[in-house]
Amino acid sequence: MSHDAWIQFRRDLHKIPELGFEEYETQRYLMRKLHEFGLLPEPIAKTGVKAVLDTRRPGPTLAFRADMDGLAVEEQNKVDYASTHPGKMHACGHDFHMACLLGLADTLTQQKENLCGKVVFFFQPAEEALCGSRDVIESGALSDPKPDAIIGLHVWDLPLGTIGLKAGPLMAAPAFFELTVTGVGGHGAEPFKCKNPISVASQIVSSFDTLANSLTHPTKPLVISVCSLNAGNASNVIPDTATLRGTIRTFDDELMPQALSLLATNAERIASAFGCHTEFTTKHYHGTVYNHPVLAEWARKTLDGEFKLVEPTPSMIGEDFSSYSQVAPSLFLWLGASPCKLHDPKNNPDERAISYGVAALTRLAEDKLLRKE
Ligand SMILES: [Zn+2]
Ligand SMILES: [Zn+2]
Repeated sequence: MSHDAWIQFRRDLHKIPELGFEEYETQRYLMRKLHEFGLLPEPIAKTGVKAVLDTRRPGPTLAFRADMDGLAVEEQNKVDYASTHPGKMHACGHDFHMACLLGLADTLTQQKENLCGKVVFFFQPAEEALCGSRDVIESGALSDPKPDAIIGLHVWDLPLGTIGLKAGPLMAAPAFFELTVTGVGGHGAEPFKCKNPISVASQIVSSFDTLANSLTHPTKPLVISVCSLNAGNASNVIPDTATLRGTIRTFDDELMPQALSLLATNAERIASAFGCHTEFTTKHYHGTVYNHPVLAEWARKTLDGEFKLVEPTPSMIGEDFSSYSQVAPSLFLWLGASPCKLHDPKNNPDERAISYGVAALTRLAEDKLLRKE
């Protein structure tokens, strides 16, 4: 099978984006293709898929992962393979990742006789915000066979033909928080009879930069962003409550619980000084995407020359691929597919990247699994 077929996989999948744990049509499509390649796929983690290429010869087990979900975004691209599901779109390139993994499964299955060991191809649901990687691990899909290494990739705004490869932390651990300040509302003309939660919320927000600076050394980044502030709906009424939502990002998994706890106590301290109180809730699903140094060095040696390798600046964007480093040493690559504006309704990365993705994953698999005799 060739480049054109792989692009067709991507376009077929691009037409049918589904949200996390709703990827039934996507699951059926992937199962059908894997069957056509001669594999025996099985559903995992509700809407995921796993297929194992077992050469029945001793050797290592490599696992390759693609994520499956689209986003609640209305596509603005005018292409004949645009989303047919209103309000949903593959705006994060997960259609590319699935196409790359199908291309790899096809390529390796065709040369099964030249390989040893096992390859696990797994398609993970619900990467966006729901941490489907945890469900894949809990389903036991990665315990038999147990992989010696887990490899994944993500399209990225790097030039075509480039692969972003870096040992150590690559993508940040994200946490999300919601903070509600409750005061006492009343007439806008009589703030002295009220406890204005908006004034208090704004003081809390302005304390975040100081908090971030006090928590960590300047060389260890910590981001605290307030992304939503909701309170009141009239210009002469002080509301009872103000709610703010935001996100914290860091590459230091030990720092995250400290940051969340300090945020909560600091907010309550400020609020109580003005007669208000706070409720603080957080969601913290997964840690930092960490590339095992031995795997990163192996990938560098294996891919260098055939691909233009760059060592990218790590991103504060999170990826639940991070969970897999609890199962086995893991490696996450960034696949150059510029222009690539993740989560944008006009995102339509360069499809030629799929060939590079399949080629890079195939090179890595062959290096470990080609029969030596
Ligand atoms: Zn995304
Ligand atoms: Zn993504």
